[in-house]
Amino acid sequence: MTAQLIDGNALSRQLRQQVRERTTALKERGLTPGLAVVLVGDNPASQVYVRNKVKACEEVGFHSVLERYDATLTEAELLARIEALNQDPAIHGILVQLPLPAHIDDKKVIEAISPAKDVDGFHVASAGALLVGEAGFKACTPYGCMKMLESIGLKDLRGKHAVVIGRSNIVGKPMALMLLAANATVTVCHSGTADLAAMTRQADIVVAAVGKRNVLTADMVKPGAVVIDVGMNRNAEGKLCGDVDFEGVREVAGWITPVPGGVGPMTITMLLVNTLEAAERLRP
Ligand code: NAP
Repeated sequence: MTAQLIDGNALSRQLRQQVRERTTALKERGLTPGLAVVLVGDNPASQVYVRNKVKACEEVGFHSVLERYDATLTEAELLARIEALNQDPAIHGILVQLPLPAHIDDKKVIEAISPAKDVDGFHVASAGALLVGEAGFKACTPYGCMKMLESIGLKDLRGKHAVVIGRSNIVGKPMALMLLAANATVTVCHSGTADLAAMTRQADIVVAAVGKRNVLTADMVKPGAVVIDVGMNRNAEGKLCGDVDFEGVREVAGWITPVPGGVGPMTITMLLVNTLEAAERLRP
């Protein structure tokens, strides 16, 4: 079997077109969705991420602001900026690019963002809303994975066993909760899991969110399973690759996401969706 690809670029284009249309409708009523992206320091990867986020906002017609600060910015100064953005009526979403310099407590900063503007979905109120099934912003990467499943007809996951590898607060745990909310039976694996392959071999859906190459190989996958690869790693030649042994697993799986061109573009797309929804909640 050769797996079908779930193309994150194509799905993103489709979803971003919908965001563009809803944005135009909102603007006609006098409301322009606004996202503020805050970058502290000069981490090269972060600079690329924030540029891409701002560019994506411009492409769908949002108002976007990139606030860049020196790595010497104090925690108190950053908290004051967040508070100003919380009060700014032109801003509906606030994203603080992580990691922050070591002298700033990123947890404190994220908690300072108003939950109504927490479009990254990292605030404890957003995590709590997901846990108890209330409306809140969903963390963008797992939200994007759910949209990828939906795109192949997997919306209600009743009767499906999903295995998530990884339990971080920004990917693995919210991913598990979203799968559970969609009625899947969910197993969460991590570095303490005794026999990972025994778990993944039972899975109809595997989501790998580890950050290590070849965590999932062909012998660990049930024929026909859906494999979502969240990982972002570099191979020996410096090429971007995921956690999944793509060439091997694609011969066993039914569906697979590539890296690049899979989950990556979906993350920014879901940030746009969340920002639009934050603005729509204020619709006049
Ligand atoms: P993280 O915080 O480092 O978490 C990694 C998780 O993997 C941990 O829960 C860890 O277990 C588990 N783990 C480590 N080694 C394992 C093993 N051998 N077997 C099973 N589980 C193992 O990473 P993260 O922030 O969730 O990110 C994961 C990956 O996704 C990274 O490559 C990151 O770059 C990528 N990512 C991609 C996007 C995107 O937009 N595509 C967005 C976010 C993250 P313990 O909890 O026991 O330590």
